[in-house]
Amino acid sequence: MKTLSQLVFNNTYRQLPASFGTPVSPQPLDDPFLVSVNQKVCRWLELDPADAATPYFIDVFTGNEDHDGFEPFAMKYTGHQFGQYNPDLGDGRGLLMGEIVTSEGKKWDVHLKGAGMTPYSRQGDGRAVLRSSIREYLASAAMEGLGIKTTHALAVLSSNTPVYRERIERGATLIRIAESHIRFGHFEYFFYTNQHAELQLLADYLVTHHFPEIAQQSDSRDPERYSLLFREIVRLTAEMIADWQAVGFAHGVMNTDNMSVLGLTFDYGPYGFLDDYNPGFICNHSDYSGRYAFNQQPSIALWNLSALGYALSPLLDKEAIDDALNSYQPILQTAYSRNMRSKLGLKEKRDEDTPLFSDLFQLMTQQTVDYTLFFRTLSDIESSALPDAAEQFGAFVKQQPPLKEWLGRYAERLQHEVVPDEERLTLMRAVNPKYILRNYLAQQAIEKAEGGDFAMIDQLLHVLETPYHEHPDYAYFADLPPEWGKHLEISCSS
Ligand code: AMP
Ligand code: MG
Ligand code: MG
Repeated sequence: MKTLSQLVFNNTYRQLPASFGTPVSPQPLDDPFLVSVNQKVCRWLELDPADAATPYFIDVFTGNEDHDGFEPFAMKYTGHQFGQYNPDLGDGRGLLMGEIVTSEGKKWDVHLKGAGMTPYSRQGDGRAVLRSSIREYLASAAMEGLGIKTTHALAVLSSNTPVYRERIERGATLIRIAESHIRFGHFEYFFYTNQHAELQLLADYLVTHHFPEIAQQSDSRDPERYSLLFREIVRLTAEMIADWQAVGFAHGVMNTDNMSVLGLTFDYGPYGFLDDYNPGFICNHSDYSGRYAFNQQPSIALWNLSALGYALSPLLDKEAIDDALNSYQPILQTAYSRNMRSKLGLKEKRDEDTPLFSDLFQLMTQQTVDYTLFFRTLSDIESSALPDAAEQFGAFVKQQPPLKEWLGRYAERLQHEVVPDEERLTLMRAVNPKYILRNYLAQQAIEKAEGGDFAMIDQLLHVLETPYHEHPDYAYFADLPPEWGKHLEISCSS
């Protein structure tokens, strides 16, 4: 395990031409302190977690000291926000500090969110507040624990610098770690500014660093290279969306500048995990039309991919773009149905499965059933006990008869499974989480942290890293949300 000073950096993105962004130094925050550090992410970087508590580390990541290996850089991108093209985006408060190369040769971007103003800050102050930094910190760990591709957060640091939102809050920084911070919007920028040589350079950069199989098969004179690349981005996006829909994750701001070209869940703002099953769930208080509602995510991701395809049009022909876009729906469908079938423990394929699922979704919608708890409860009941198990769902299914009827059909359906019952239940518990980051839990952790108590952040982090385990000491984190906790309004302000 190393200290920050012992880590090796290789800042390849900053070596790209000037139009890719602007070198910017982080601006200092006052009286900085560490809020929490993620030990698992430290291990990936080969960083000693104890180093994160040292004054040097804290000063570097709050803009109070320069670190030799870092060459902080604000990336330029643009994108479509709520369907409208915005040419003025870019890292407005984040900086790519450097790229760590581990001893195994793996490259990780180290990004500092909340680092102060850049040329892309527009009217913003370049800052992030403690509240939103904690939300991103916990959510990215929760998604990782669920096995969903995501960016990661190494640590949250806070300060006494006042930051003005709806009220005065503490200025904070989040150290975001990801294989890459390249978004759909990076390509849109070069396309809409007619910088086609740079567009190609960006595509080649992406292929070289992140798609080694494509790099081996092709060179930059080969148009096939870019269709392979776009097809891969379509596939990775479809698989990410299938995972979001199965776990009940609503992103909230699926603008093209928040879409990762590696299919990582990217930019945690007003996101929400479903409590009650509600397909039209809108977690973003500012999303008046429901553009980014939970059940719109699959079609919005395709819309975003079309925007990316258009931006890539100087590099590949229309047929290749359409072919790739046409592969989205089947890949998503296959991945989503695999996810959902494993949630019910179904390995065999049978005709009655389709109505079994649609009736379950109807029941969950009509009775606003807690999505996570429903599947987890189901994962603990032997098939012979199912027909009489309706009461076990009593806390979150109001009318028992339709549930009883469905459980009976499910029990019958399970008789056609070959896998022994006990093994099926074990497999189901490995895909149906007991713990998700419910909004009210994040809210409680934030309120405590604002009062100076960070213990709940670390407790949640611990549980959410392995959300399929029982964690008897923290069983209360799996409780149904209190009524107030179901109606928290999450604004875009962060
Ligand atoms: P988001 O809605 O978080 O995806 O951010 C959209 C754009 O606004 C990005 O270009 C961000 O860098 C920028 N941005 C968000 N918050 C701030 C802020 N407080 N100061 C400066 N820029 C910001
Ligand atoms: Mg963003
Ligand atoms: Mg954001």
